[in-house]
Amino acid sequence: MSHEPIVEILDLHKTYHMGGVDVHALRGVNLRIEPGEFVALLGPSGSGKSTLFHVIGGLTPPTRGVVRVAGRDLSKLTDRGRTELRKTTVGFVFQKFNLLPTLTALENITIARDIAENKEPISQQFRNVLEILGIDRRLEHRPYALSGGEQQRVAIARAIVNNPPILLADEPTGNLDTKNSELVLETLRELNQALGQTILMITHNPEAAEACSRRHIEIRDGLIIRDD
Ligand code: ADP
Repeated sequence: MSHEPIVEILDLHKTYHMGGVDVHALRGVNLRIEPGEFVALLGPSGSGKSTLFHVIGGLTPPTRGVVRVAGRDLSKLTDRGRTELRKTTVGFVFQKFNLLPTLTALENITIARDIAENKEPISQQFRNVLEILGIDRRLEHRPYALSGGEQQRVAIARAIVNNPPILLADEPTGNLDTKNSELVLETLRELNQALGQTILMITHNPEAAEACSRRHIEIRDGLIIRDD
């Protein structure tokens, strides 16, 4: 096993410029994440959690500092390089499932393969993932015929269909009732344990963090104030 971290961040700053005003969303973040970790990111609204995800996921470039994701230096990537990173290296799951209502569950998943121009046949391993997610019998259903928890598990399948080394989940249970939240957290835990999928999860809920991961990172005002 390699000793390279999957994410390495040194003195990361991110400043947004809005209507002549600078918003310092991240103000010197240092972070190292090893392959196979499950990390919960906590912190109040506006503390910079999503911004950190957007930088790690290549949605927005860092203003200053070093960000290496799967061996790539993000400050050196062009827009095109970041697009490539999003296709191959990170999968995103959001609070809103963002499924296309006219497509079946399976079509919602495979569209991510088409976008990434992934022509490999769907692997047996991925079929096992669908089983872990508990949606292998729901693939022909459209989103309206699925529960919220099932929709989120379809969204998770879509996020990892191209086999990215990192899964970024931004409040994945924020729209779910307790029972469906537990099911989704359980599947994330299983993906992490069974497949060694590296997962970073933003959550407001300390219980969700506790249920999934041993490493809890707390962000406040653009800085990491706790990491244990
Ligand atoms: P969190 O995810 O913890 O709620 P965010 O990363 O969304 O925090 O926001 C951190 C700060 O950056 C907030 O002050 C927010 O208003 C600001 N911010 C986030 N995104 C943008 C943007 N695209 N343009 C300008 N300001 C932004």
